Amino acid sequence: MTKHSIPQATAKRLPLYYRFLNNLSHQGKTRVSSKELSEAIKVNPATIRRDFSYFGALGKKGYGYNVEYLLEFFKNTLNQDELTKVALIGVGNLGTAFLKYNFTRNNNTKIVKAFDRSKKKVNKKIGSVPVYHIDDIEKHLAGVEVAILTVPQAEAQEITDRLVAEGITGILNFTPARLTLPDHVRIHHIDLSVELQSLVYFMNHYSNEK
Ligand code: ATP
Repeated sequence: MTKHSIPQATAKRLPLYYRFLNNLSHQGKTRVSSKELSEAIKVNPATIRRDFSYFGALGKKGYGYNVEYLLEFFKNTLNQDELTKVALIGVGNLGTAFLKYNFTRNNNTKIVKAFDRSKKKVNKKIGSVPVYHIDDIEKHLAGVEVAILTVPQAEAQEITDRLVAEGITGILNFTPARLTLPDHVRIHHIDLSVELQSLVYFMNHYSNEK
């Protein structure tokens, strides 16, 4: 089965499944039922069974799912063995927090370089990540596929154009800017203030529904 034959909603749950199964495996568990999984990750059991059937994992009644089989599948599908190198642009408050956090729970994605335009911020390391001047970006992007954008909104499009010209194919955009990109570049927007407002709106209007 190719990656593309998994529905997008299922693919989004893959990292969640992977993290939980990895923990189970570290605890020495060899099998898990959809009910246990469901209680732990708060996804309903029917959804889990349907998702797992896409992975070719068929649960047996009274036995559950084989943890190692699933882990192997997730490792391959999520490219766990291959490190995806990430650059972060904009070492402000949010950017600095990401550099310090640096996704230590994911062993396949890592911020390896950061860029800023402020002279005060460059030529030092935050966590273990070197910060370079944005004017030198073209010199430093070899092997980097993904960029995280934590610059002011007004700067986002120009930086994006440079990143795309350097071969970046994935962008995690934390600015509110709606960016124009060629089709081969994948972008995910995370606008934290919109998320927070939408949470409060849903709390006030749909408090009894999920
Ligand atoms: P944050 O929004 O991350 O909390 P902040 O409020 O500290 O950040 P911002 O003004 O949003 O600061 O800028 C974020 C960072 O982006 C700053 O470190 C700034 O120097 C940097 N920056 C601004 N414009 C550019 C640019 N064109 N290229 C690279 N870095 C930039």
